Amino acid sequence: MKDIDLLTKFNRLTVWRRGGERAPHKPLLALYSLGKAVRDEKRLVEFEEVSKNLVRLLNDFGPERKNHRAEYPFWRMQKDGIWEVKSPDNPEWRLTSSGDVKKSELIRYNAFGGFTETVCHEVKKDPALLKKIVQTLLDDNFPPSIHEDILQAVGIDLAADAAVVQRRNPEFRNRVLRAYEYRCAICGFDIRIDHSPIGLEAAHIKWHTAGGPDEESNGLALCTLHHKLFDRGAFTLSNQLEVLVSDRANGTASFNDWLLKYHGKKLAAPQRATYQPDMVFRDWHVREVFRGEVRELPHTGTHPSSGYGYR
Ligand SMILES: [Zn+2]
Repeated sequence: MKDIDLLTKFNRLTVWRRGGERAPHKPLLALYSLGKAVRDEKRLVEFEEVSKNLVRLLNDFGPERKNHRAEYPFWRMQKDGIWEVKSPDNPEWRLTSSGDVKKSELIRYNAFGGFTETVCHEVKKDPALLKKIVQTLLDDNFPPSIHEDILQAVGIDLAADAAVVQRRNPEFRNRVLRAYEYRCAICGFDIRIDHSPIGLEAAHIKWHTAGGPDEESNGLALCTLHHKLFDRGAFTLSNQLEVLVSDRANGTASFNDWLLKYHGKKLAAPQRATYQPDMVFRDWHVREVFRGEVRELPHTGTHPSSGYGYR
């Protein structure tokens, strides 16, 4: 199978219904399964397992619906030439008038679904192609502001080198947010829609792309804004885990309200001491990411922490 064929097949999963109605079911199912392929997990997965995960993705990233039906994309994606459904019982599937199989049948016959062997093989051997497919599915179905949230949820890291797609532990986000009790460790930001935190991210202190591990001691729960400021080096952490703002970061009222106000203040502590940021990762951030020098504390001419030894 040539690259273009496979990419085209994935492109065709994106179908906006008339009137601009969103139909992200197949794209999300494909992204979920691509994450599994990246992590080398088993190819065929039980319907109930797929359903649980897909419904969660649809609740977070799909349109508001009374209930999301995972059985439709699970069955229909076979027609797109990339997916197969199998059952150990080899049943004669009874099709409904719309050509679907009922959820109860999928469960009764213990249906398994996943990409075909060819698709799995193609995407695993060609990271550049995989990256193109993932990016296209994201670009065609979701605004850029939520791409990162979706990638975290399905466990794919695209930020890496152009030709490499890294695996990422989809549990990292949950574990880090739980460690910090679902609040930004800097400002306490914690807006939710029902139970889903919005604009709250699991930041790697040592970047994942630089080999930073998916562990609590390399993670911080940060709001989108503080995550961005941290990754751009506007602030770092002292060896006492205080916020150290760069002398190159500046601004007026918002700079004071959102950043300078926290200068010299301690991060919120995670709920277990073992989740505290490891100094090895903090040292990497100081060395590789932080910009300029640490600001003096206003009015005192001193630095926030006597032994901050930030460099
Ligand atoms: Zn924040």
